[in-house]
Amino acid sequence: MPDFFAEAQELFEYACDLRRDFHRHPELGFQEERTAGIVARELKELGLEVSTGIAETGVVAIIEGARPGAVALLRFDMDALPIEEETGAEYASQTPGVMHACGHDGHTAIGLTVARLLQAHQDEIPGTVKLVFQPAEEGLGGAERMVKEGVLENPRPDVSLALHLWNEKPVGWIAASPGPTMAAAETFSVRITGKGGHGALPQHAVDPIFAAGQIITALQSIVSRNVDPTETAVVSATNLHGGSTFNVIPPYVDLQGTIRTFKPEVRELVLRRFHEVVDGIAQALSCETEIAIEDVTLAVDNDPEVTARVQGVARNMFPDAPLITQFQTMGSEDMSFMMDDIPGCYFLVGSADPEKGLDAKHHHPKFDFDEAALPRAAAVMAAAAVEVLKG
Ligand SMILES: [Zn+2]
Ligand SMILES: [Zn+2]
Repeated sequence: MPDFFAEAQELFEYACDLRRDFHRHPELGFQEERTAGIVARELKELGLEVSTGIAETGVVAIIEGARPGAVALLRFDMDALPIEEETGAEYASQTPGVMHACGHDGHTAIGLTVARLLQAHQDEIPGTVKLVFQPAEEGLGGAERMVKEGVLENPRPDVSLALHLWNEKPVGWIAASPGPTMAAAETFSVRITGKGGHGALPQHAVDPIFAAGQIITALQSIVSRNVDPTETAVVSATNLHGGSTFNVIPPYVDLQGTIRTFKPEVRELVLRRFHEVVDGIAQALSCETEIAIEDVTLAVDNDPEVTARVQGVARNMFPDAPLITQFQTMGSEDMSFMMDDIPGCYFLVGSADPEKGLDAKHHHPKFDFDEAALPRAAAVMAAAAVEVLKG
């Protein structure tokens, strides 16, 4: 195995310059045209066969190893978020209201660094590496769309890998955990309809605000009273709109939120109880309901064998660093749509440095990470790719 960490450190400036450039020019999901243009240019400069315009702005490149073998898909996401940046960094977003607040600028730079690392050792690689730069990971369905547009065919991957910089933990920390590691997510939208009226004469109205309050409270009983206490789920009501003034009971209230689970059987239970609780309480309070539930992602379920290989690579490369082998977060990731079909490992690479003030959480307007994480992440990804291609 080449010394990918040493080589990645030599590419530190390359990765950093790219990351800062992407950070200055963030683009929302399915609009990553500038970013995708740079990705395609860099990959073509390496002499790779590059396809563009997949799921609007997705880019795919193939590295053919010198020997026949398996096919590994490596996925990197490129999109930013609709957040006004408050980092004050020299490389802060120049686009008002749009910001790389999840680290996908880093992921794109890591992907291009991995391309260089692997292309430099093309003669030693058994099989084929399929580099996938994905648009619209942040809840817009970029991965699912790439799958629909054939990213899992020609060539069909045998194994898949993806990573996330993880600002909850310091640089050096790595987590690669077998089984469900990120949650399945659905959004719910509920309209609770009563009968509007005068705020002082509730006896003539059917109050949907009162019903919404009861429903929000009772929804918390699903996790605390229905889900097995040794299992995990989240039901969060996050968006509530009703009424427009102080003395009018409104005709309806709109409620939105999210449901997160790891296991299909827990998901089914939560969804069933969600309908029963919402409908049952609304009915008792003479309100009507319309419920819409939308799947956002499946759970990210790491293949134990692939994950063991990634763990081995990380342990060899950084014997003194903390390697976490049991890790779950209720966060979600649409890489699950690729991993649902292709066994793989989604691992996390610590990227915070509290002493430098680089530890704001993902999706926060002050989010920024320590760029020392870039070569570490690229090196583990490159070495993991070679490792899984060995067959
Ligand atoms: Zn995010
Ligand atoms: Zn993210």
